[in-house]
Amino acid sequence: MSTTIAGSGTSLTQQRNLVTEIPGPRSREKLARKKQYVADGVGTTLPIFVEAAGGGILVDADGNSLIDLGSGIAVTTVGNAAPEVVARVQQQVAAFTHTCFMVTPYDGYVDVCAALAELTPGDHAKKSALFNSGAEAVENAVKIARVATGKDAVAVFDHAYHGRTNLTMAMTAKNMPYKNGFGPFAGEIYRLPMSYPFRETAGIKGEDAAARAIDQLEKQVGAQNLACVVIEPILGEGGFVVPAEGFLPALAAWCRENDVLFVADEIQSGFCRTGEWFACNHEGVVPDLITTAKGIAGGLPLAAVTGRADVMDAVHVGGLGGTYGGNPVACAAALGAIEEMKSHDLPARARAIESIMRRRLEAIAADHPVIADIRGRGAMMAIELCKPGTLEPDAARAAAATAYCHGVGVVTLTCGTWGNVFRFLPPLSISDELLEEAFDVVAEAFAATG
Ligand SMILES: *Cc1c(COP(=O)(O)O)cnc(C)c1O
Repeated sequence: MSTTIAGSGTSLTQQRNLVTEIPGPRSREKLARKKQYVADGVGTTLPIFVEAAGGGILVDADGNSLIDLGSGIAVTTVGNAAPEVVARVQQQVAAFTHTCFMVTPYDGYVDVCAALAELTPGDHAKKSALFNSGAEAVENAVKIARVATGKDAVAVFDHAYHGRTNLTMAMTAKNMPYKNGFGPFAGEIYRLPMSYPFRETAGIKGEDAAARAIDQLEKQVGAQNLACVVIEPILGEGGFVVPAEGFLPALAAWCRENDVLFVADEIQSGFCRTGEWFACNHEGVVPDLITTAKGIAGGLPLAAVTGRADVMDAVHVGGLGGTYGGNPVACAAALGAIEEMKSHDLPARARAIESIMRRRLEAIAADHPVIADIRGRGAMMAIELCKPGTLEPDAARAAAATAYCHGVGVVTLTCGTWGNVFRFLPPLSISDELLEEAFDVVAEAFAATG
């Protein structure tokens, strides 16, 4: 295994090191200021104020070094302040910061669209449009699908997360905290049963789970009314659920036969995270449209809809865009991030990280029956916690183990409809040593709680 690590340009010592309690006095002072000026609705998982980050380390205002197993929610896949990202952003920001691509264009935008055409699944002619956030990309995928098909209805899945704007809240499954009190929501959204192997009759095949969803679509919506099926090929916020093999290909095939667009939301799973460039690649699924964001630009805000050229071009001139979409600095960052992914073979690095995480999680699960399922792909792994021997979610244990990790300097996240999924999203720039140390802590967390 190659030991070249993306983001190795960092000067930060790659070691966990706590010099105060977590959060320390300076972070607590800053937190009081946050409380005064930042709306309470904007929550914080771990209130340490970050001053530097790189490799697999976050350094806070008190001088503590924490191990990062969250990547800012799957964003800093190439590492924080990765060398190619920094260099290209610095050059671009000094040259010009904005023109609005809809007013006067520039190369960076077109270069990112060309890279997306090359890297996303399928070898058909593809085009892209760029936006600022994942939710905005999903909204635009729906706009494009409606114009291209002349139909209105949108199908989404149980446990789905697609964003926090009005349309994407309607597409998102979970009420708290994403939707509660924010309605009324956009119409013509239909929710289908997902393939969730851990919570289903053992052995149900992906094709059967797809048939169940398709039957519901045909009976309750009708293909003649359906513009698109939007699905995360691996659920993100919904709990890192990998659908049973055959589920995604069967859905995509039904869409193709019924003039329905198959839209893969790869905002969390895309860009090397799962050990392939895109999660669809694991089963050779070629979506009509794919949405990307998060990992695409090494931390700068950028998102894209990429798809079949004929579908993308169905929209009238001027119908897609936005003031900042495809900002030149964000595009420079994306080109730098993609360069890091290629030159360090980050899909392979994600697979190597998976093998370490899987080995460690299997060993921890052997000692702690609360760990009922280990799942995910690449550097997108999770464990689902249940009362031993049942499917009853144990969110309290997930919270306790998370709090333990945070207290000793490992940044971990939870997810899942019941909040009982512990997820691991290290930057692919983390070293093997640091990753092993982080999982020593996760093991301690289970020994110390419950
Ligand atoms: C994060 C996420 C979104 C929303 O992206 P934002 O940039 O937060 O708007 C949409 N879909 C998936 C699968 C995501 O993980």
